[in-house]
Amino acid sequence: MTRSDETPGGSGAPDDLDRLLAGIEAKASPLRAVVEEVHRRHVGCTDGRVADYIPELAAADPAHFGLAITAVDGQSFTAGNTDIAFTIQSVTKPFTYGLALEDNGLEVVLDRVGVEPSGDAFNAIELDPRTNRPFNPMVNAGAIATTDLVKGPDLVARTKRVNAMLARYAGRTLNIDQSVMLSEQATSHRNRAMALLMQSAGAVSDRVEESLDLYTGQCSMLVDARDLSVMAATLANGGVNPLTGEQALDPRYVKHVLGVMYTCGMYDHAGAWSVRVGLPAKSGVAGGLLAVVPGRLGIGAYSPALDEAGNSVRGALAIEELSERLGLHLLEPHPSDMVTELRRPRRISEPGRNTTSD
Ligand code: GLU
Repeated sequence: MTRSDETPGGSGAPDDLDRLLAGIEAKASPLRAVVEEVHRRHVGCTDGRVADYIPELAAADPAHFGLAITAVDGQSFTAGNTDIAFTIQSVTKPFTYGLALEDNGLEVVLDRVGVEPSGDAFNAIELDPRTNRPFNPMVNAGAIATTDLVKGPDLVARTKRVNAMLARYAGRTLNIDQSVMLSEQATSHRNRAMALLMQSAGAVSDRVEESLDLYTGQCSMLVDARDLSVMAATLANGGVNPLTGEQALDPRYVKHVLGVMYTCGMYDHAGAWSVRVGLPAKSGVAGGLLAVVPGRLGIGAYSPALDEAGNSVRGALAIEELSERLGLHLLEPHPSDMVTELRRPRRISEPGRNTTSD
């Protein structure tokens, strides 16, 4: 069991160069040590509450805490419970947005779903009054609308497409947790109300009931914290999975996906997160959280106790500390020696780019 007697919180200044160089000389990975240390600093935090509005989620063990980094060169560094499976929930939203963009093109998607932060709860039953569209693809209404744009002849075919898409990001086959899916289907009255509101406003198709089932099914797909780091690293790597070399997303759409994550990915704390942490991120009510450092690495975290906005308490604390310590804030260039080595993508085959392995 890891130590849990330290006060959680940010560590202040970035790590000093001497310490990093000592690690490099010793052929130990300084980044591995940092992931383990950040995990240790926050593992004792007991703040937050496990979500229970989907009854099956209440069974999660609040003691679980996993933290993982996967770099664009394919290296992974993990600490804690990174192999505990949980349902992806809203962390699927940016990926489904990407699939909707690939299926329909930017103009069609923007015509259906906006890209403005709503300032309201993720499950608010509302549309942007100026446009009659959902505010953005990260709130439930917007995610149901983007799910509605996923092509396929029927629910089974569309579910298989979404599952295959998520598997390309994770680099492995992903299963559905049937009991969570059924639990949510039996209680998703708000989502149904939103779907019907959007149908009446012409913001979704007439098969929105089927799309609602597709949405619930994709939210119930099982991942672990390491998967989330690989999925984030794939976005960091121009849409190419750094482990499999597979193109998970058309590179044209990567910035659109990251853009809505940056502005809307952390529920009602999206603004504070962008200012303090400075990374595109997405959280889910089961306690999953991922963050993307474009061109460099992906971070995945799992801890089911949530704060009042619905974000994983320990996941958010850990990623905020990693951002500070490694100088990852996108608006504050602070090239750390520790991550400079992780900047070179391995397998992106763009002209003029290095495609060989280190
Ligand atoms: N399936 C959940 C819902 O629609 C996802 C919510 C979330 O993770 O934010 O309520």
